[in-house]
Amino acid sequence: MAEFTMELNDEQKEVRDWLHGFAADVIRPAAAEWDEREETPWPVIQEAAKVGIYSLDFYAQQYFDPTGLGIPMAMEELFWGDAGIALSIVGTGLAAVGVLANGTEEQIGTWIPQMYGDASDVKVAAFCSSEPDAGSDVASMRTRAVYDEAKDEWVINGTKTWATNGGIANVHVVVAVVDPELGSKGHASFIIPPNTPGLSQGQKFKKHGIRASHTAEVVLDNVRVPGSCLLGGKEKLDERLARAKASRGERVKNAAMATFEASRPAVGAMAVGTARAAYEVALDYAMTREQFGRPIIDNQGVAFQLADMRTSIDAARLLVWRASWMAVNGKPFTAAEGSMSKLFASETAKKVTAQAVQILGGNGYTREYPVERMHRDAAIYTIFEGTSEIQRLVIARTVSGMSIR
Ligand SMILES: Cc1cc2nc3c(=O)[nH]c(=O)nc-3n(C[C@H](O)[C@H](O)[C@H](O)COP(=O)(O)OP(=O)(O)OC[C@H]3O[C@@H](n4cnc5c(N)ncnc54)[C@H](O)[C@@H]3O)c2cc1C
Repeated sequence: MAEFTMELNDEQKEVRDWLHGFAADVIRPAAAEWDEREETPWPVIQEAAKVGIYSLDFYAQQYFDPTGLGIPMAMEELFWGDAGIALSIVGTGLAAVGVLANGTEEQIGTWIPQMYGDASDVKVAAFCSSEPDAGSDVASMRTRAVYDEAKDEWVINGTKTWATNGGIANVHVVVAVVDPELGSKGHASFIIPPNTPGLSQGQKFKKHGIRASHTAEVVLDNVRVPGSCLLGGKEKLDERLARAKASRGERVKNAAMATFEASRPAVGAMAVGTARAAYEVALDYAMTREQFGRPIIDNQGVAFQLADMRTSIDAARLLVWRASWMAVNGKPFTAAEGSMSKLFASETAKKVTAQAVQILGGNGYTREYPVERMHRDAAIYTIFEGTSEIQRLVIARTVSGMSIR
């Protein structure tokens, strides 16, 4: 087990500086254009693939870093560059983690490379869980997967929504109901291979922020996939369902909740990146913009806001790093520390970006300055990967042991 440390080692500092260079030189200059175009920034993803940032190797290296700081450090730097473009770059990694965490070795080896493609022909992947009537309430999911034993195939029907990279992905990971009687314990994840008949993109959403990231509905109409596309395999699923049936009614530890606790700090780190970016622009502006014959930071009303912004960002990063270290080192989340980090960091990003707009005055309200975009982007962090209300629910239930509703 790695000791918790608040200092990056030399190797991590090198990676951080390299990522920061890419974020500053490639991502940030392209941010306004792709935000306006509201399209996936394929050339930027390709550039990231060429230098090795968009690759399974890079993602896995950070993911398995025993200090736990690899992923939060990488997320913070990329999202400091621009949230929409960064999500286009890391969105595949989020789908790949589902396969890494639950797939067999063969599934990992077969599908993850196809999620990324290669630098000359980049591909993306999508993770599809949310549905029109199953957002926070995951248990009311309706997409159904039925096993056709004669053909050793699964037949999947349903509509997914809000899928990042949905419909444009080479590989989709789809969560579906395999046993409706078991609620969220009766769900399983499936790989939908490239060009599978029956999978199509529904509506593509026009969004408030992170507009360079593609978000769409995914329609599954009698999609047939081989038995080998069930993540983890049939034997493991049958065992899991039997266990769930035997313990019906009892409060058992939900494996999905543990996975969320481990993945939520990564979203917290994205929020820290956006917040830090807006804070830096605001600090610089406050030191150079003069009113009443002196820089506006000479007023405590402005300076104290900047002090609060910086304090919250540092506090958010510490919560994120702690939770990431706990996840990698298998520490139990006895106070839902993963949810805590995501809650605090995402609320911080929303607040700090709003303060940045205020500090830039009229300029902050225009697209001439990046804080307007950062403010719109920041609003996503309190919504996806569990809303702030759901994080509070998880924390309150975990610390109290009560079934708070
Ligand atoms: C840009 C974007 C990208 C996304 N990417 C993906 C993706 O790649 N894959 C995927 O599967 N999903 C994705 N999502 C979906 C996202 O995770 C959901 O939007 C989120 O879980 C909330 O669900 P909902 O939108 O249905 O809101 P609802 O669940 O309808 O919530 C609406 C409001 O009610 C509140 N609320 C609900 N229940 C409670 C409660 N019990 N107590 C208190 N308040 C409550 C919520 O906090 C929220 O404020 C994405 C969403 C967006 C916007």
